Amino acid sequence: MLANQHQHDILIIGSGASGLSLALQLAETATVAVLSKAALTEGATFYAQGGVSAVLDTSDTIESHVQDTLRVGANLCKPDIVRFVVEHGVESIQWLIDIGVSFTKNPHPNGHEYHLHQEGGHSHRRIIHAADSTGKEIEKTLEHRVRAHPNIELFEFHTAVDLITAAKLGKSEQRCLGAYVYDQQTHKVEVFGAKFTVLATGGAGKVYLYTSNPDICTGDGIAIALRAGCRVANMEFVQFHPTCLYHPKAKSFLISEALRGEGAKLCLPYRRTGNRP
Ligand SMILES: Cc1cc2nc3c(=O)[nH]c(=O)nc-3n(C[C@H](O)[C@H](O)[C@H](O)COP(=O)(O)OP(=O)(O)OC[C@H]3O[C@@H](n4cnc5c(N)ncnc54)[C@H](O)[C@@H]3O)c2cc1C
Repeated sequence: MLANQHQHDILIIGSGASGLSLALQLAETATVAVLSKAALTEGATFYAQGGVSAVLDTSDTIESHVQDTLRVGANLCKPDIVRFVVEHGVESIQWLIDIGVSFTKNPHPNGHEYHLHQEGGHSHRRIIHAADSTGKEIEKTLEHRVRAHPNIELFEFHTAVDLITAAKLGKSEQRCLGAYVYDQQTHKVEVFGAKFTVLATGGAGKVYLYTSNPDICTGDGIAIALRAGCRVANMEFVQFHPTCLYHPKAKSFLISEALRGEGAKLCLPYRRTGNRP
């Protein structure tokens, strides 16, 4: 054990949907620390709009969702991973419903209990959503749950700087022992020791000048992992949305993909084409 200020069974770096849902699952049998480098809810999860896809409609099938995903993934996806994710979609949605996420209900009495959007690349209606702020609803529900959990300790405005590996301490074993963490309030670097450390730090969208990603998306976890000797893969795969509001003086924001799914068309402006769209 390290001579540290904090010791937990599990250290989760990141408080988006991935970090918080893992924290809730593990906290049943272990003590968990969750770090976020800004306020707890500030991350890509909070800004997600359109919704989450899963095979929820009776006319839809797992096979159809798998084939749609492989097709729009230009056959670059790993089929076994695609199938695993698709097959576990319904139970993941059910888990979110069970912890209190309030998805939009279907106003039509004969349809599925929840309203399902259709989005780009999908051959069926399978996007469950909470109006047009699905991520906010999911993140706020997770926040409510983790704040109430006795086994979870939250550290907001705490930036993970580097992993503590056994090698860095001069030991021969290959193990991660925790992380060095910068406390933005005290301006001190603290030692967080843990039996297991999880990087759930989100993406690196802020490498682009214009992005719908929030400011925290600076790829810290990827750099931290690389410095600790982990393999990093698939960095060339970045999602570019075709619809985003651009204004030179304002922060760009996404215009939901659900818009096109429901029939909206992308048109060149009248000035450029000379034709009315
Ligand atoms: C505008 C927008 C719309 C989207 N719409 C959809 C959608 O409709 N459907 C869909 O499926 N997906 C959508 N996405 C993608 C989806 O939001 C993300 O894939 C998902 O939320 C990522 O979750 P996460 O937990 O991995 O990361 P995030 O939610 O980004 O959380 C990252 C966490 O890591 C923490 N962190 C980062 N670095 C450090 C550090 N050094 N130290 C401590 N903490 C750190 C942050 O503070 C934050 O808590 C959208 C994304 C955006 C930006």
